[in-house]
Amino acid sequence: MLNNWFVMPTCLPLVIRRCHSCASDRFRPNGKFRVNANHKLLDAWLLALCTACGETTKLTVFERTHVRSVRPELLDRMHDNNPALAAELLQDAAVRSRNHVALDWDGAWRLDTGGTEHLDREVIDVAVRFAARIPVRPARLIAEGCGLSRGEVGRLITEGKLVSAVRLSGKVSGDFTFTLKR
Ligand SMILES: [Zn+2]
Repeated sequence: MLNNWFVMPTCLPLVIRRCHSCASDRFRPNGKFRVNANHKLLDAWLLALCTACGETTKLTVFERTHVRSVRPELLDRMHDNNPALAAELLQDAAVRSRNHVALDWDGAWRLDTGGTEHLDREVIDVAVRFAARIPVRPARLIAEGCGLSRGEVGRLITEGKLVSAVRLSGKVSGDFTFTLKR
C-alpha cells in the first residue's frame, strides 16, 4: 500500500537579498503590494521587510506594462494585498530570476505523514508530495517522517534497504517516492 506524505508550506518563505541598511540578508514578505500608475503604464511590486532592521525592499512583479495587458483580476488581488498571490509569485521562477533572489524555506514548511500507523510495517512505500516547490533533503525528510536519526537513514541507504529513484542524499523540491524495507 502506498502512503502519501505531504510537504506543506506553513508561511511565506524568506527572500534572500542583501540589506542596504544593515548586515542582514533576509527579507520577510508581508503579503503587501505596491502598484504605481504613470499614464497608462503600470509598475507593480511585492514588498518585503528586512528581518533585522525593517527596511522595505521591492520585488518587481511587472514594470511599465500597459494597463490593458494586465488582468483586472490580478490588479484586484494586488490592491487587496492578497497573501495567496504573494505565495504564488514567490514560487514563480520568472519572478525570482527577474529580481535575482532565492528563497529561504527554513522553518516555513512542515511534513504531514498522516499518522505513524504505516511505520510498523515491514515494507513501507511512500509517495512524498510537495504542495510548493520547497527544496528539502530526502534523507532529512525520511528521518523526520519515520522517527529515525540521520545516521540510521544513512545506514539504511548504504545497506540498500532504503531505495528511491531520486538521490536521497541530495536535495529535491518535487514529488518523489521511496521504499523502506526492514
Ligand atoms: Zn536591514
